[in-house]
Amino acid sequence: MPNIDTEGLALRAGHKPGLRISADTISAQDIAARYQSFGCSVALAHARVGRDRRPRVLIYVAPTAQAAIGLRAAEHHLLEPHISDRDRAFFTRELGLRLGFPTCCVDAFAARILRGSGHLHAGDRDRHDDDFVAASDGWVARPDWRLNSLLMRHRARLISFTPCRLDCPAALAQAAIILGLVHEHASATAPVLEDMLKRPLAIGPTGARAWLRRGADHQAGAGPITGTIAGAEAPRELPDGAPDPDDVAHARSWSSAEIDASGHLLGCGLPAPRLLDFAALR
Ligand SMILES: [Zn+2]
Repeated sequence: MPNIDTEGLALRAGHKPGLRISADTISAQDIAARYQSFGCSVALAHARVGRDRRPRVLIYVAPTAQAAIGLRAAEHHLLEPHISDRDRAFFTRELGLRLGFPTCCVDAFAARILRGSGHLHAGDRDRHDDDFVAASDGWVARPDWRLNSLLMRHRARLISFTPCRLDCPAALAQAAIILGLVHEHASATAPVLEDMLKRPLAIGPTGARAWLRRGADHQAGAGPITGTIAGAEAPRELPDGAPDPDDVAHARSWSSAEIDASGHLLGCGLPAPRLLDFAALR
């Protein structure tokens, strides 16, 4: 799937106040130059970020130089190695608001940091994958596929933040605008993107995720899946992307799971993996 720059479209259409892009040193100059050619201001920083802590160039893009530098200043504090949870929550909120994310979603993200990263409940000892915790916090029986932010690694997303709930109206307002821009500027790719985002997705406490298949008695759009599923497969970038081996192993062990009314995959360990049935509303 060609990479649709959903955020870039939103920024250039005036729907976003800023962007933060993480790139390798080779492509960073090209990305910066491309945004400058659109008349945007760019600020750069170097840091080790992401799951693998590789050196990356952080590119902050905004309509004015002052706004681009403001984004960089907000994240600068987050890159300090010994930052407290309190400061991390404060500056994460600051960065999120400067990037134009909805206040309710930014507040929910900051609250999870204060609770203790990876904790499902305040006071828990066990830590889990942050996406799993966020998906558990934001779980609703009929999540809206336009808020599916769990396939960013597979380059499928409309929004680039974690919604406070998977039916958050403020997040949906942004997702709807971006979906319109995708149809306008990348109409050939839009159906592939929608197909990926609209599949029922399970995520486990390690962050492993799988697309679940409905059984013959579950029709898409007929409400959330409950009972036994027909199978599971690791998500991949369509049409022929390589799946993550950890996702493949989990998909295999979840492939005949039973699902309760709150989307828990039963018999798959605790805390139970969670189904986000993005096809329930179709
Ligand atoms: Zn929200």
